[in-house]
Amino acid sequence: ETTHFGFTQVSSKDKARHVAQVFESVATRYDIMNDLMSCGIHRLWKRFAIELAGIKRGQRVLDLAGGTGDLAAQLARLVGTEGEVVLADINATMLQVGRDRLLDKGIMVDYAQVNAEQLPFANNSFDVISMAFGLRNVTHKETALNSMWQVLKPGGQVLILEFSELRLRPLKPFYDLYSLKILPLLGQWIAQDADSYRYLAESIRMHPNQETLLQMMQQAGFERCDYHNLTGGIVAIHRGYKL
Ligand code: SAM
Repeated sequence: ETTHFGFTQVSSKDKARHVAQVFESVATRYDIMNDLMSCGIHRLWKRFAIELAGIKRGQRVLDLAGGTGDLAAQLARLVGTEGEVVLADINATMLQVGRDRLLDKGIMVDYAQVNAEQLPFANNSFDVISMAFGLRNVTHKETALNSMWQVLKPGGQVLILEFSELRLRPLKPFYDLYSLKILPLLGQWIAQDADSYRYLAESIRMHPNQETLLQMMQQAGFERCDYHNLTGGIVAIHRGYKL
C-alpha cells in the first residue's frame, strides 16, 4: 500500500517512519520555527479555532496531534479544573517538549502517546476533539477520522485546523515562492534542517483541499460539516458533529 511523503510516493510504513523522523528532528525548535515561519500568524489561526469551538467549563477535550501543546494550554484554561484535556500525539519527543512547557506554566493536562488511526479511548468519551496541523501527517486519514468519530460523544464536535488550498489567486506566485523556495532555505539556515521544512511545504500541497476534506468527514459519519477559510485559504478549519 502506497501513500505520499511530501511529493514522493512511499509505502505506508515508510511515511510513518519519515514523519516520526521529521518531528523528532524539529521538536526542540518547533515552537520558535512556527513563530518565525508563519510570522506569528499560527497563533491567530489557533485562536480562531478555539473561539469557534465554544468550549465550556467541565468539558472533556482531546487535542490530537497536539505536539508541544499550544491548543491544549488554551483548552485547559477554558474547561477549568472540572474538565479534562488530553494532549495526545504519536511522537514522544514532541510530547516531552510540550509537557515541560506546560508544567513550567503550571497548566495541568493529561498526556497520551497515541496514533490518531487507532485511538485507545472509550467510545463516546470526548465532548470536543481538536487536531491542528496534524491530519496531513497521518498516513491513513480516513481511518483517523473514523477513529475520532468513535471516541466522540454524541453531540460532540471535531475541529480540524490544517493547511488547505489557497483561494486568493493573486497571492499564488508569492505563496509558491515562499513555501517551496524560502521555507526550506529558512529551515536550512535557522534549523540546519532543510529536509523537514521541504516536507512541510510538500505535504501541504498533497493534503486534500477544502471540499475533499469536507466529504471525507461526511463519509466518516460527521454531520453538519462546514469549513472556514483563514488567510485566504492558506489554512482552513473544518468542523463536524457526531449527532
Ligand atoms: N498541534 C500542534 C500545533 O498545532 O502546533 C502540533 C502540530 S505538528 C505540525 C504535527 C504533529 O502531528 C506532530 O507533533 C506529530 O508527531 C503529530 N502526528 C503525526 N502523525 C500522527 C499520528 N498518526 N497520530 C498522532 N499524531 C501524529
